[in-house]
Parts: sequence; C-alpha cells; structure tokens
Amino acid sequence: MYTIKEFKAGSYVNNKILIYGAGDFGELCLRCLQTNQIEPYAFLDRRAEMDSYLSIKVIPATEIRNIDNPVVLLASNRYLKAMIDFLEENEISNYYSISQLLDTDIDESLLTDHAKEVWKNKIEYKKAVDDICGERLWVNNIDLVLTQYCNLKCRDCGSLMPYYKRPCHFDLDKLLASFDRFMTLADRVKELRLLGGETFLYPHLAQVVNHYKDNEKIDGIYLYTNAVMLPSEEVIEQIANEKTCIRISDYGPLSKNKEKLQELCQKHNLRCEVLDSTEWRDMGGVEKRNYTKEKLISVFEKCENAKCPSFCEGKLYICPRAAHMEKLGFFTNSDNDVLDFTSDEACKEFTKGKIESFLFGREYFEACDYCNGNNKWENKIPAAIQRGRE
Ligand code: SF4
Ligand code: SF4
Repeated sequence: MYTIKEFKAGSYVNNKILIYGAGDFGELCLRCLQTNQIEPYAFLDRRAEMDSYLSIKVIPATEIRNIDNPVVLLASNRYLKAMIDFLEENEISNYYSISQLLDTDIDESLLTDHAKEVWKNKIEYKKAVDDICGERLWVNNIDLVLTQYCNLKCRDCGSLMPYYKRPCHFDLDKLLASFDRFMTLADRVKELRLLGGETFLYPHLAQVVNHYKDNEKIDGIYLYTNAVMLPSEEVIEQIANEKTCIRISDYGPLSKNKEKLQELCQKHNLRCEVLDSTEWRDMGGVEKRNYTKEKLISVFEKCENAKCPSFCEGKLYICPRAAHMEKLGFFTNSDNDVLDFTSDEACKEFTKGKIESFLFGREYFEACDYCNGNNKWENKIPAAIQRGRE
C-alpha cells in the first residue's frame, strides 16, 4: 500500500518543482500551477526525446538524482505506481499527488483540445490515487472475448481475427468461471466490454449479459458490433437492461444494418451508441522488431491499446493483440506477461496488488516488440479495409 502526500500550492517556494509526466495531466498540472503563480522548474519524463513541452524544459527522469531539493508532482493517472516505484528506487521521497491542485479554477481556453477532454474526466486522477493508497482494484475497462468468428475480414484488425483459419466460440461455462475469478478480486469495473470477432455471432451472448447484469461491481456492459448482421429481436429482448449498451463501430456501407439495429434497440429500450470508426492506426505485421528498451517503453507508453486489457479464454492480457498473437501461434507471452484465471489453482496466489501492477505498473510488455503500437498521432489508416479489396 502507498501513501501519497498532497501538494499544497504556496508551500514549496524554495524547491525546484518538477512535473513528472509530459502528457495531458502534465499540461493540466502546469496550467493549475501557473494559475497559482507558480512556475515549475521543468517537466520530468521517461521519454528522452523531448527537449521542451509547452515551453517548459523536459528533463529525462533518469537525471532526477542530479537535481537539488526537488518537489515532484505526479502528473499521470496511468503510471502513478511506476512513477512512485522509480522515485523510491532513486531515494526521492518528496513526491506529491495533484488531486487538490486539479481543483484550481483555470482558464480552460488555454488547454489543448485533448487536455480539455482529460480535464472533464480529471476525477480519474483522484480515483487512481485512491486506488493505489487503498489497495482497491478499480478497472476502467476490460474486454471479455467471446468468439473468434467475425463476418468481416478487416486487413488491419487490431485483434488479428482474419488470421484465424478455424475460429471457435469460447465455452460458456469456462468463460464465466474464469471471469468470475477475476471479478472476485476486482472492486469495480467501469466498462465490461463484450466482443469478438463479431459479438452477435456468439450463441450464448444473452447468458453472459444476464450473468453479469446484476453484479454491483460492474457499472456497465458494452457490446461491440460492426452492424453487418442484424441480431434477432429475441436476442435484443433478452439482453435489454439498464446496464447494457450496444456500441456500433460504424464502418459506413459495411455496417449495413446500423439503422435497423438502432431502431430495434430503441424499441426495446436498449441503449445504443454509434462510434466514429473511420480511422485506425496501422499496428503493422507480427514480426519481431528488436526494439531497444527505450523504444519499447516509448511504444507502450504512447499506445492507446495499452489501456485495453483483454480477457481471452480465461487469461488476462495487456491488450487484444498480445492475446491473439499468442492464440494464433505468432508469439508466446512470458509467464510475467499473462495472468491465468483458468482454474482456482492457477490464480490462487493472485492479489489485487499483483493485478494492479500488471495492468498499471509496467513499462512495456514483450508483445510490444511485435507491434507498432496504436499511437493516435502516427500511422493513420482508413478503418475496416477488407482483405482482397485493397
Ligand atoms: S476489426 Fe472487428 S469487424 Fe473487423 S475483422 Fe476485426 S473483429 Fe471483425
Ligand atoms: S504496443 Fe503493446 S500494448 Fe500496444 S497494441 Fe502493441 S502489443 Fe499491445
């Protein structure tokens, strides 16, 4: 369990103030400090590739020991644990939470577009601090993979589905038993995401939804579909409840049943959201890249999928690609890079802390060496290009 002190503006006038994390929370932290008439000394960041960020110099984290009397502000919700471990290893104890600082009334027009979005969800930072201080396991989202069948063959599928030559549906009893084991340790799951392949091809979908709809630790159940097929009215009726929501990945003309599905959901009072799915990132082939450690850290840190843990056939992986590369035989995750919930015996040593370290405390995973990452600023490609139709 960790104890994190709270930063109080105005108390550290003789210290060099470092913002740890040159990202969105770093930007928010900077604007809050400046609103309080505090100018930070620098950003501290694990990436050594930036000299400055938002006109403030960036110092590689490894140089922290060379700075006299630093006060370090932890400006990340995702890497809090890794940051604290790193600081402790370097015998720096003057680090602080920015939870209260984020209550500063700032001029939001100064923020970049992305930081404006993060500002709206700044509560996530406080929750992350609470989680690591209170040994609670709070998971924003987790994919529960139901099937390898899909009715599209997207060339750049992030889950590599078109590679499956003999796809299968996962056994319902095993799927529920293994995910139940995970849920006994989780304190809260904000989004349980059911997906495939194509979710509506899974014959036991209603049983899965109904098994979890009354679980109080799960805030919402989200079913992902490409809207190529229209599920039967009976299935929609069976899965309609307050907690469940359909999310349509809108692939234009390919999603030919989008409107009908929306109508069906409306008829049965089932929430339905349409996701803008026009653009993806090219994560590249499954060959080994032989990245340096610095590059691996950078690929993982910038990867949006690093926030998408995937529960597949009873095991927890850091992302769908790490799961399916293994299932397809392209690569084998080391024991450290996968958590096995397939039996009580396999997971008897697991604790909330172990799962939290796995999900939020790592610098990279071996699977990242077989991947370009899903970096929202790079390698943009059109979504859902079908194999053979390029
Ligand atoms: S991206 Fe979705 S629709 Fe396309 S192949 Fe993969 S799972 Fe199927
Ligand atoms: S970079 Fe790593 S976390 Fe991101 S998609 Fe690739 S394997 Fe998954």
